[in-house]
Amino acid sequence: MSYGAQRVALVTGASRGIGRACAIALAGPGVFVGINYRSREGEALKVLAEVRAAGGDGMPLPFDVTDPEAVNAAFGQLIEHGGRIDVLVNNAGITRDGLLLRMSDRQWREVLDTSLGGAFHCTRAALRPMVRQRCGAIVNISSIIGVRGNAGQANYASAKAGLIGFTKAVAREVAQRGITVNAVAPGYIETEMTGAMSEEARSAMLSAVPMGRPGRAAEVASLVRFLASPDAGYITGQVFIIDGGLSI
Ligand code: NAP
Repeated sequence: MSYGAQRVALVTGASRGIGRACAIALAGPGVFVGINYRSREGEALKVLAEVRAAGGDGMPLPFDVTDPEAVNAAFGQLIEHGGRIDVLVNNAGITRDGLLLRMSDRQWREVLDTSLGGAFHCTRAALRPMVRQRCGAIVNISSIIGVRGNAGQANYASAKAGLIGFTKAVAREVAQRGITVNAVAPGYIETEMTGAMSEEARSAMLSAVPMGRPGRAAEVASLVRFLASPDAGYITGQVFIIDGGLSI
């Protein structure tokens, strides 16, 4: 049965961190949010409760973004419930750090398959209904590492730089269909991903941030919410850095 929402969004990797913050920021009356996760169902259900507390509704969508069949099935399920899709946030991403000389094929592949391959699978699935609707907004979560590079992260930097090229190419393809495609490139944001950094790496990173503090997931989500809104309807193919001045 269709929920009859005015707006339907899907956020990949929404069980925690930046994806969780995006799902909550996008929520509101008349908004139906697909909350994708890979393994942490309990966390995804907590996000659903927060989406409902914000006056919206949604559904947990467990699938691995690297699996195209699972992606297509999940989009089918979302559209069956919500009737349409207006917003896609390609957020799911992982790190498998290591210096290039010691990087395994698996480390390389997993990171590229998740961030870049996942965005490809989800964008392709979202564009079919968006083209029919002649409207939609796609926001890809890249990284400042994709712009500047970082020793020990050749796989991650390549995936995130690839996502910027992907954003610009797809933006050109669908601009005339009323669909916008933009990228957000966060700097150092406090989440579980960065929580895994050593204390040394963390203080080195912080000392390079003019604002002297890490960013919050909610701050990234505010930018994503704006880019996904009709207020940003004439912005496409752009990369927005949000890093407390790190890249100045
Ligand atoms: P995080 O806390 O590690 O959360 C990652 C999320 O991605 C989780 O919800 C996880 O689901 C999901 N995920 C991972 N692999 C997946 C897959 N194959 N299929 C579906 N979902 C998958 O990460 P974060 O720090 O919030 O980062 C979110 C995004 O922002 C990533 O793309 C990251 O590269 C980017 N970013 C982060 C920072 C930062 O400083 N934190 C900076 C720049 C860019 P489960 O919970 O089910 O495992």
